[in-house]
Amino acid sequence: MPAETGPRIDPLVPESRLPRVGTTIFTVMSQLAAEHGAVNLGQGFPDFDVPPRLVGALSQAMADGHNQYAPAHGLPALREAIADKTQDCYGYRPDPASEVTVTSGGSEAILDAVMATVHPGEEVIVLDPCYDCYEPAIEMAGGTAVHVPLDPQGFAPDWERVRQAITPRTRMLLVNSPHNPSGAVLGVEDMRQLEALLRGTRILLLSDEVYEHIVYDGARHESVLRYPGLRERAFVVSSFGKTYHCTGWKVGYCVAPPALTTELRKVHQYNTFCTFTPAQLAFTRMIREEPAHYRGLGGFYQPMRDRFREQLQGTRFRPLPVPGGYFQLVDYSQVSDLEDAEFCRWLTIEHGVAAIPLSPFYRSPPAGQRLVRLCFAKNPSTLDAAIERLEKL
Ligand code: GLN
Repeated sequence: MPAETGPRIDPLVPESRLPRVGTTIFTVMSQLAAEHGAVNLGQGFPDFDVPPRLVGALSQAMADGHNQYAPAHGLPALREAIADKTQDCYGYRPDPASEVTVTSGGSEAILDAVMATVHPGEEVIVLDPCYDCYEPAIEMAGGTAVHVPLDPQGFAPDWERVRQAITPRTRMLLVNSPHNPSGAVLGVEDMRQLEALLRGTRILLLSDEVYEHIVYDGARHESVLRYPGLRERAFVVSSFGKTYHCTGWKVGYCVAPPALTTELRKVHQYNTFCTFTPAQLAFTRMIREEPAHYRGLGGFYQPMRDRFREQLQGTRFRPLPVPGGYFQLVDYSQVSDLEDAEFCRWLTIEHGVAAIPLSPFYRSPPAGQRLVRLCFAKNPSTLDAAIERLEKL
């Protein structure tokens, strides 16, 4: 083939570190929604206001001159507040000095934890469908993601299959509850099995619990931090964005034992160094002055979930159960036989509702699965507008 018609090789551009990564499905669908004026129930973010106290505290912090670097690990007052909140929620108080690190969002904490502990050639077990930032983090560390499927109906882990996936190279297991995209939650029995599975191994646990306060029907969130046998080997990741309706502020934190925290902080301090100072003051006040907010978050979202599910009854979309989080999976097989990605494009462009397909969350999606994810963390008017369009299908 003559050189001019062959692939153009630019000697300055190295081989991609992430050859299989493109633009995230959340960005793709939000852009498509904006282009076509669709109601955006795709990318997960609330469209209602953040608590007024939090906005006031943020402005106050900036007006008071708290605009320079925070300590790399987070403001001591915020780490104290996080420790007390953890005690309040899970009956365990991490040491704020050596076990709590404030990060620029949950994703940063996940990247830091993986980069800090996974060596080239090691394996990290992930449970499919899984959130999109896990595998790129593992690949950047030089590791390999080993994909174990969750049950395709209820999205429960099959711990025996997880056990079979363990090899001498397994460094870490990544779990996520409440689960994105399905909303499934891990129960007490899961935690017991997980504890038994990891006992006596050198396998670390990375627990993505960013939707921890959004659980329904009076259920209790089974945080890894409740279980001594798990937390001794775990990075537990939380998100203020999810808890306080401010995903754009990008503030989260990680709780881990001192030796693991030391390693995580090495990456954190050369990744972002520290997190937006005014927000740290604002979250400190919010935790201290309005604990009812995080304690009551499930109760805040439950009417929204129930109303949306009720509205879906008037459509041909079949809603799956939602035990936690703010996403509703719907089966669209009565509406279309298109594959999910194609279906989401069609739904956005032709019918004005943006959703997220499930296939990008898998290494190999189950054949014939007809599920998409809708975010219901929205004002009633947004959900009404979406339902009006979905009812026509
Ligand atoms: N966590 C959000 C979701 O699942 C997406 C965040 C992002 O766009 N990176 O929809």
